[in-house]
Amino acid sequence: MIDGASKAQSFAGLALTITEYCEFECRHCYASAIRDKQKAHQYPRDTLLEIIRHCIPLGIESVFLGGGEPLTHPDIAALVGETLQLGLTPSISTNGLHLTDGMLAALNAEGMTHNLALSLDGASQESNDAVRGHGAFEVACRALHVLRDFGRIDFGINVVVTSQNLREVDAITELARQHNASYLTLVRLTQDGRAIDHWDELAVTDDEYLQCLRALNDRFTLTDHFFLQCTMFDLRPVTDSAAIRRKPILMSPDKNGLPVGISVDGKGDVQITPMRIIVGNIQREPIDVVIGRLQDGVYEPRVAEWRASAGAEQQREANLLFGTTGRADCKVGKLSSDEKQITMP
Ligand code: SF4
Repeated sequence: MIDGASKAQSFAGLALTITEYCEFECRHCYASAIRDKQKAHQYPRDTLLEIIRHCIPLGIESVFLGGGEPLTHPDIAALVGETLQLGLTPSISTNGLHLTDGMLAALNAEGMTHNLALSLDGASQESNDAVRGHGAFEVACRALHVLRDFGRIDFGINVVVTSQNLREVDAITELARQHNASYLTLVRLTQDGRAIDHWDELAVTDDEYLQCLRALNDRFTLTDHFFLQCTMFDLRPVTDSAAIRRKPILMSPDKNGLPVGISVDGKGDVQITPMRIIVGNIQREPIDVVIGRLQDGVYEPRVAEWRASAGAEQQREANLLFGTTGRADCKVGKLSSDEKQITMP
């Protein structure tokens, strides 16, 4: 177990599925977002703020307001403002469908000036829409124009690397730069949600993913690296002082070197990420009881061992291990014997 002092600083970020609703039906959707508004769960603003407040003593610094499509949440702008007022950094990833000038103005008025990402999974309609659905590329291109023309929110592009876009990462990067995007995040496909059903057709190997990272690493500044799940490159020239000042938006290692976060999904499950240890469910138990388990340290966050086994095979092993024993008393240190240190070239 970790001691009380480090417990309070053990979680770098909080990721919330604020709504399960989304008009898109991406084949790789980790959240299995749904189009049916009646069936899609959406947390009320008060509940979301309650969760965020309870997580502050755990040391979180950032809050990912995720979905589904977060811009469909009626209180998204207010949530951004309230998160900032709590001293935390909000981030949003959107499919772009609701990304209007008015929406950007509302977010900006609440204090959002960066950490807004647009999802794009191909440099062409063919490759992008093969994964994200018909019309998605057109939506993303329009959103890129809106973002560029608005100009007051620093934005990036999120790419889930799949077999469909593996050879287009350079072209996507160019598209991003042409529209003044500040950063590009390469997200590793994980066995979550609908991606499970399409794993064989979409997944890339560890080597293929690393190949993408290496190609970009030669030309751009690495600003955040979250194991092999998420890697961010700053696309701006290194001489740009803003690029140097920029804070990473994703979960970074915290002060103790523990890159662990908390996620709350649309079903109410609260997990320690990326190890996927479920600590409770806020739809069945009071929030303070569930979050209290994190404070009480009823798990053993041996993240260093998990870091050493971040390859896909190891992640599958982790899923297997934690999928079957993934409860509050799970010992993360189980993976320590299978070392595979991932280093950037
Ligand atoms: S990946 Fe994003 S845009 Fe696609 S269905 Fe899921 S929530 Fe919607």
